[in-house]
This record gives sequence, C-alpha cells and structure tokens, in this order.
Amino acid sequence: MTWEERWHPLREEWVIIAAHRQDRPWNGEILEHDHAELPGYLPDCYLCPGNTRISGKRNDDYSRTFVFDNDHPCVGDDAPANLKTPTGLYLNRPARGIARVVCYSPKHNLTLAELDVSEIENLLQVRREQYLDLSALSDINHVLIFENKGEAVGVSNPHPHCQIYATNFVFKTIETEARVSDRHYAETGRVLFQDILQAEHDDGRRIICESDSAVAFMPYFARYAYEVYVAPKRTHTSLTTLDQSEVRDFAETLRCLLVKLDNLWRLPFPYVMTLHQAPTNGVDHKGFHFHIEIHPPMRRPNLLKYLAGPEIGGGNFLSDTAPEEKAAELRVQSDVHYKEAALVSGD
Ligand SMILES: [Zn+2]
Ligand SMILES: [Zn+2]
Repeated sequence: MTWEERWHPLREEWVIIAAHRQDRPWNGEILEHDHAELPGYLPDCYLCPGNTRISGKRNDDYSRTFVFDNDHPCVGDDAPANLKTPTGLYLNRPARGIARVVCYSPKHNLTLAELDVSEIENLLQVRREQYLDLSALSDINHVLIFENKGEAVGVSNPHPHCQIYATNFVFKTIETEARVSDRHYAETGRVLFQDILQAEHDDGRRIICESDSAVAFMPYFARYAYEVYVAPKRTHTSLTTLDQSEVRDFAETLRCLLVKLDNLWRLPFPYVMTLHQAPTNGVDHKGFHFHIEIHPPMRRPNLLKYLAGPEIGGGNFLSDTAPEEKAAELRVQSDVHYKEAALVSGD
C-alpha cells in the first residue's frame, strides 16, 4: 500500500495518501443512473432563452452564450459601507462585489463536455472579456469564475452555466497561490507552476491529455480522487494574454479531459471547476500561472468523498487513492463522448 504524505506546493500543506493496493482501480462497473432524457428547452428554466426569471427580468433569445447579473448575489455592489464595529478583537469589512451568471449554450440538456471545441473557445473568450471588464472596475481585487456541476455539488438546474464573483477581496485559495508563487519567483527566478509542469512531464504517469500548448493532468498532490488541472504550457497570469492558437489548444485539451471524465462512469461527471487567475489588486503577479482546477466530489460512482475528521477536524486531506492509479483510469478512456459514440453506433 501507499502510505505517505505529499507536499502541495500551491497550498503549502501536506496531503496524506493512504491507498491500499488491494483496493483495485475501478474495473468497469457501470452506474445505472436513471438519466431521464432532458429536453433542449424547458419553459420554467430560469436560464433558457427568452424565459422570465424570478426577478421579472427576461433572458435574451440568445444563440450562443448569455451573461447576466445574478438576481440573488452573495455579494452586492450596494453593501452597506458603515458597518457596526464588533466587540473585542473581532474584525469586519464590507463584502462588496458583482455576481454574474454565464450560460454556456441555449440548449438546456448539454454540458460543457458536449460542446464542440469552437463553442468552448467562444466561452473562454467570453470569460476573458468578463475578467477584463470586471477587473477594470474600482474596488474589484479579484474575479473568481467557477462552475458547480451536478446534484452531488448541490446544483439542481442542469442548464450549463458558470458563475462569476468579482469582489473587493481575494479568495483565500488564490491569495495563497499568489503569495507562494510570488515568493518562489523572487527566490528562484522561476514560476512555481512551471516547476510543477516540469515534474509532471518528467514523471509522465499523471498526464491525461496534451496538445501543443496545453496540458491536462492529475497533480502528484491531488487531494480528491479525480482532481485534475488544465493549464497552458506558457505562463500567463490570466486567460487574457493567451493567443488564438493557445486558446484553441486549451479548449481542445479541456474538452478531451471532460469527455474522459464523463466516459469513466458513462454519466455527466459532477465537479467544481474553478479558473485560477491572478488577483486584480494592482500587484504585478509575475509568478502566477493561469490554470483551471477541477474538483470532483465522487470517489466511486455511488460514493462521495466526505470531508470528515482529517479534513474538517485536522485540516489536512486524506486520500485513500493513489493519483497514479486514478490518472491511469482516465488516460485509457476514449476521447469521443459516450453519448456521441452511442449516436454513431445506433445504441
Ligand atoms: Zn434551461
Ligand atoms: Zn490553482
């Protein structure tokens, strides 16, 4: 069995790997989820084109992507500025920001993995514009773009979409990554993430898909069974500086990875996907390397990773799977989506 701690260089913490050799990699069991066929349009979906949302606002009759301000934001631009001072050592400050929603497609029943490369490219373009737009506003120090997918992470509406929180504060994970990356750059003159890419390349076992300028891999220090990253090979602090061919390669690599995840259990793989881009707080984060992190909550088709004693109580992740084995499961998957394959073969 594997029983070791692995250093997570981006979070500066240890990940405990306790993988039993007897615990064989998943070997072909298919989860028979009752996936009722969803319609392409749903009259009462608040994200479908032309529908009226609960706020009374009406969605555009969009044909590709659609961006709107979240009707129920967790952060607002009108947060009260004069907060009551709490007692003793406690601190508070206003949580200001703008929350938006980006619909990926007018079709209710598609997922990101089923969009074609040009549609994903277009989505990356939209996200790039949002990052630029929002970061230019005063008092916006960070633009967090993320997608929650699947009921396993609490999403009841399958219409493909992501969310944007542009805030006056920098979210903790990005703040940590920016701090350790800046320090690594100052100390060594190198980009921390480039050192990670080099180590992954040299080992090779955890690389899942690759194109000329982008790579998808399961990091050595993965905390979740199917935790995977996608990154351009050249360093960019955000999506905004990738050239056209890099965006294309990135879209292709991301799509390849998502298709393999879906194919693993032949179901829309649930996950939290986050774009890690440099904070927009006026500091030049030279050492920051844009990437996407995908955290799926599932360990097996019917088994969630529960956060418990080690994670919640102790603060370190305990993984009972070896990243090399889990990456191997994904590497052998087809890069043709199972739904597409079924259509072609007439299943
Ligand atoms: Zn819909
Ligand atoms: Zn990251």
